[in-house]
Amino acid sequence: MSKQKYATLAVHAGQQPDPLTGAVNVPVYLTSTFELSGIESNRGYDYSRAGNPTRTRVEEALAALEGGTSGHAFASGMAAIYALVATLRSGDHIICSANVYGGTARLFNLIIQHYGIAIEYVDTADLDVVKAAIKPNTKLIHIETPTNPLMVLTDIAAVCEIAHAKSVEVSVDNTFMSPALQSPIALGADVVMHSTTKFLNGHSDGLGGALIGTKPEHKERFLLVQKAAGGIMSPFECFLVLRGIKTLVLRMKQHEENGRAVAEFLSTQSKVSRLNYPGLKSHPQHELAKKQQRGFGSMLSFDLGSRANAGKFLGALKLFLNAESLGGVESLASHSATTTHADPGHAGSVRNEWRQVPRRWRRGAMVPPGSASWYVPSFVNDTARPRPAQRRPMR
Ligand code: PLP
Repeated sequence: MSKQKYATLAVHAGQQPDPLTGAVNVPVYLTSTFELSGIESNRGYDYSRAGNPTRTRVEEALAALEGGTSGHAFASGMAAIYALVATLRSGDHIICSANVYGGTARLFNLIIQHYGIAIEYVDTADLDVVKAAIKPNTKLIHIETPTNPLMVLTDIAAVCEIAHAKSVEVSVDNTFMSPALQSPIALGADVVMHSTTKFLNGHSDGLGGALIGTKPEHKERFLLVQKAAGGIMSPFECFLVLRGIKTLVLRMKQHEENGRAVAEFLSTQSKVSRLNYPGLKSHPQHELAKKQQRGFGSMLSFDLGSRANAGKFLGALKLFLNAESLGGVESLASHSATTTHADPGHAGSVRNEWRQVPRRWRRGAMVPPGSASWYVPSFVNDTARPRPAQRRPMR
């Protein structure tokens, strides 16, 4: 798909004027229920857990942007992953990328495994390892590419080929790239997952998640989970994501420009080791990134050698905020090992249980203690700022 076409799609998919009034922005349907037109007949909606017109629009937009056949919006990225695995059954086996977002490992290790679903973390960047990990009961390979925070890539097309030969489905967490920079379905993926909290919302003012399916049974099963379990995106959040999507392509361009500048600067710094930015030629997976992504984005991470150094660094930052999350217009930096990838943080039985999880099961949470993640902003661009003499007094 050409860049021009994609940018146009982002502005128009799901965003057609309101048929009732012609409003150019999708109205926020703040209603829990809908008047029915009779017994077993309605005007397309009956109850907002099952469906809401604002949600329909964002789901259409997300399906179009990812090239899928149905979109499903959830209350958060984690609610979306939960919905994905809620379609599996006891006895099934999931293969998951090692070093995924810590919340994914937390969900899998502390909740999903109790449902009798086995989870195995493997280095999905190694295709032989993926091949060897598939068992007769494997139903899903869940890939995060690039991973949070170590920016490890998986060859989506190659994994899909291996999986499909064994009738296994592949889901891809596309949060770090956004649909503007990576299209997993075009590479063979069955399901795409997003934390819309990040680049899709784009303004750090809401939480949301999405699944985009490619088969009629995905639509059927994800709709069922939405209606039956109820972890759906609220109408107002749907509106915010629709608004964010309109500027997605522009924002991703600026994210990338700034991300590259920061990565190039960091690459000259002697105290920085293991700089993970796939846009640099020195990155071991640079060629794969060029092949399967339409850009390199703004996410990067690096190692400062120790937790103390990482703390000192975060404390000395001026513009960047020490905060978890990413994809908004502000600059954030965080220490993954003690935030996004830390243990559940509660005292008591849950924490004790986490400590008993075998180390190999905790792999998603294992990031070096000296590493900091750095999430680069969209709009900090000094050359575009008005010079003091050009500033007008506020009225
Ligand atoms: N997937 C990735 C790659 C993430 O970075 C995150 C959150 O940081 C999530 C999933 C979970 O998303 P949410 O915070 O919207 O539940």
